[in-house]
Amino acid sequence: MRDKQTHKQAVPEFEEARRIILESVETLSPERVKLLESCGRILAEEVVAPWNLPRFSNSAMDGYAVRAEDCGAVLRVTDFVAAGGSTAKVVTAGTAIKIMTGAAVPDGCDSVVPFEDAEESEGTVRTTGVVKPGQHIRIAGEDVREGETVLTAGRLVRPFEINMLASFGKEYVTVVRQARVAIVATGDELVELGETPGKGQIVDSNAYSIAAAVSALGAIPTIVGIARDNIASHREKLKEGLEADVLITSAGVSVGDRDFVREVLEEMGVKTVFWRVKVKPGKAMAFGVKDGRPVFALPGNPVSSMLTFEEFAAPALLKMMGHTITVKPLFPAVLQSGLKKKKGQTALVRVKLECTNGRYLAWSAGRQDTGFVRTMMDSNAVAVLPADRDEFLAGEEVQVHLLGGAAGGTAL
Ligand code: AMP
Ligand code: MG
Repeated sequence: MRDKQTHKQAVPEFEEARRIILESVETLSPERVKLLESCGRILAEEVVAPWNLPRFSNSAMDGYAVRAEDCGAVLRVTDFVAAGGSTAKVVTAGTAIKIMTGAAVPDGCDSVVPFEDAEESEGTVRTTGVVKPGQHIRIAGEDVREGETVLTAGRLVRPFEINMLASFGKEYVTVVRQARVAIVATGDELVELGETPGKGQIVDSNAYSIAAAVSALGAIPTIVGIARDNIASHREKLKEGLEADVLITSAGVSVGDRDFVREVLEEMGVKTVFWRVKVKPGKAMAFGVKDGRPVFALPGNPVSSMLTFEEFAAPALLKMMGHTITVKPLFPAVLQSGLKKKKGQTALVRVKLECTNGRYLAWSAGRQDTGFVRTMMDSNAVAVLPADRDEFLAGEEVQVHLLGGAAGGTAL
C-alpha cells in the first residue's frame, strides 16, 4: 500500500536522525590484507613488538664512537663501521672507532662524537668540546620494547602506523573489511554517463558523486545502474543493490506520482526506520534496514544527495568500517555575511572557510538552492545552523565542519 501523506514514523531532528542511523549499523567483519592495503583502515588485531626498536644500539650521527671520559685526549682510530656493518673491535681507553649513522655501536664506547666536534689526523682523532656520556647513541628498545603491545584493535592505520608495522616485518595485517556499497539512481529523465542527453534528459551525475564519496571514505562503490520510474525496473535494480553491505539510492523518495523507492524497498523487506528529516537540504531522505544492512534513500537534487551522503551515510559507513570518530567535529567560524533560514529545521549552508589570524571566517559559497552544484564546488565546509533560529548576522559565530573524507578515524 502506498502511504505517502500519512506516514507513521515521526520526523526526526537532524542530530536525532544521525543518532538513529549510527545505532542501526554494526562494525563489519575483519580480514587479513597486505600491509599497504591496511592504510586508512581500522586494525582488528593487537600488535605485539616481536623485537626491540631500535633493534640494536646505534649511532645517531656520523662521527667517532668513544668513551666520554677520554674526551679531549688524542685517540687512536682502530676501525670503521658503516650502517649495516659491524666490528669485532672494542673501544678501549685511548681509542675510537669511526662510525656512520645507523651503524651498531661497538662494545666499550658510551658516546658518539660527531665529525663537526672532532679533528682527525693520521689515524688519530681529538674531540673538541664537551662529550656528554650517552650522547648520539640510540639505545636498543628505547622506542619500543620487545613484547610490548604497540597497537590495539580499533586503531586507525596511518602512514605512521605503517612505518612501525613494516619495521616489525608485518607483511599482512588484520583490519576491518571495507563496506561494499551499491548505488542505484532512479529516474526516467536520466541517461548513463557516455550517452548524450536528449530533450528533457540529464546525465545521471548523482551515482558518480556518491560513488566518489564512497571511495574517498575507503569503502567500495558499485554503480548498479538506473532504475526507471516504474515498479518493475525498481524491483530489478533494488534487488541487485540489496546484495551489498549498504544500498544507497538517489531520487524518487519524495511524494511525486513516480516516486517508487520507498514502496519497492518495503516490498523487498526493508524496514523504514524514518522518512524525512528536519533538515534542509535533505528533508525527503529515507533510512531503512534489511537484515542489519542499512539502506539510504537520498533525495534526487544533486546537492541534497551529496550533503545527505556527507551527513548521514558517511558516518554510518565509517562506523561499519570500525571508525569510532564517525561524525565530523564542529568548530566555530565567524560569519562574514548574514544568513536567513526557516525555523523548525536545521540548515546546512555551504560556506567558503578561510583561516585568518587564527580565526576561521565563513562566507556563503553562493546560491543555496539545491540545484546549484557550483556552490557545492565553491565550498569547503558546511555551516550547521540550528533549527530554533531563523536569522544569523554577520560577525556571529556559527558551527561549521569541513567537507569530504573521513571524520578523524579513531581516538589515540
Ligand atoms: P526526484 O526526487 O526524483 O523528484 O528528483 C529530484 C530532482 O533531482 C529532479 O530535478 C531530478 O531530475 C534530479 N535528479 C534525480 N536523479 C538524479 C541523478 N541521478 N543525477 C542528477 N540529478 C538527478
Ligand atoms: Mg524522479
